[in-house]
Amino acid sequence: MYNQIFGPVPSRRLGLSLGVDLVPFKTCSLNCIYCECGATTDLTIERKCFFPYEQIINCLKNKISKTDKIDFITFSGSGEPTLSLDIGKIINWIKSNSKIPVAVLTNGTLLYLPEVRNDLLNADLVMPSLDAVSNNIFSQINRPEKNLQINKIIDGLIKFRDEYKGKIYLEILFVKGINDDPDELKKIVAIAEKIKPNLIQLNTCVRPGTESDITILSKQELENIASKFSVPVEIISTFNKKSSNLFANDDIISLISRRPCSLDELSSLTSQPVVEILKKIENIQSNDYKIKIDIINNKKFYSILNVK
Ligand code: SF4
Repeated sequence: MYNQIFGPVPSRRLGLSLGVDLVPFKTCSLNCIYCECGATTDLTIERKCFFPYEQIINCLKNKISKTDKIDFITFSGSGEPTLSLDIGKIINWIKSNSKIPVAVLTNGTLLYLPEVRNDLLNADLVMPSLDAVSNNIFSQINRPEKNLQINKIIDGLIKFRDEYKGKIYLEILFVKGINDDPDELKKIVAIAEKIKPNLIQLNTCVRPGTESDITILSKQELENIASKFSVPVEIISTFNKKSSNLFANDDIISLISRRPCSLDELSSLTSQPVVEILKKIENIQSNDYKIKIDIINNKKFYSILNVK
């Protein structure tokens, strides 16, 4: 069965992060062209309880007690976590039962709902994304559920900033030729300043996404964009924190079933030579899984295509 608690896995932004995935694979309010998890199969804004609350809490208890190093418990995965009606209750359970900080990676589309804003109030860090502020560009890059409107989403983000006392890191992902034109950029900068995040994180597609013909921005182009903001900005770089002994075969499976990963990345995480990782991947492949390899900028990225 798909495991709702995974990792700890390396996160480019949060160090070693224990992941909590509250929605079934690719249940999301958006279908972003760059999504590392592939096309959205359930495009929805209907909130539900997808998995039994007790099952999630038991898995969390078990994982927390067995893992000595976790930098964050992070609500993320392969869909939109705020679609879960249980997210608030689970955040509150973690805050009452552990000292590990809680982060929520969200596409921010449901923050226009007071109950969703309320659910996230006890998180330590909320990381919403906002890639476009004009309806046509929002449609192009994020391909939203038909009832979503970008103005409402922006209002929700501004209201959330007023109500929430924790940190907000706003992620903006750029795709060349879509949301990097000077007009849109000017509007994004103005809206981001209204949202007042603690930090803006600029990103571009560094891993294979849903659509293969998208083009990334160079570091120089991201730096030029960064200079336009007056709030603190960071360009997200690749993960480089070393860890050892945290990754068993199952964790590698868990990681590459959520997003494509290069051999170097897996090697640096496990402190194992690339050749050993390759052996593990072959072993995983010969057992139950079909592995997909994408080549981006001459680098191979591995992901799990399906269970055989
Ligand atoms: S990138 Fe995030 S918000 Fe966009 S489709 Fe994928 S899971 Fe949904």
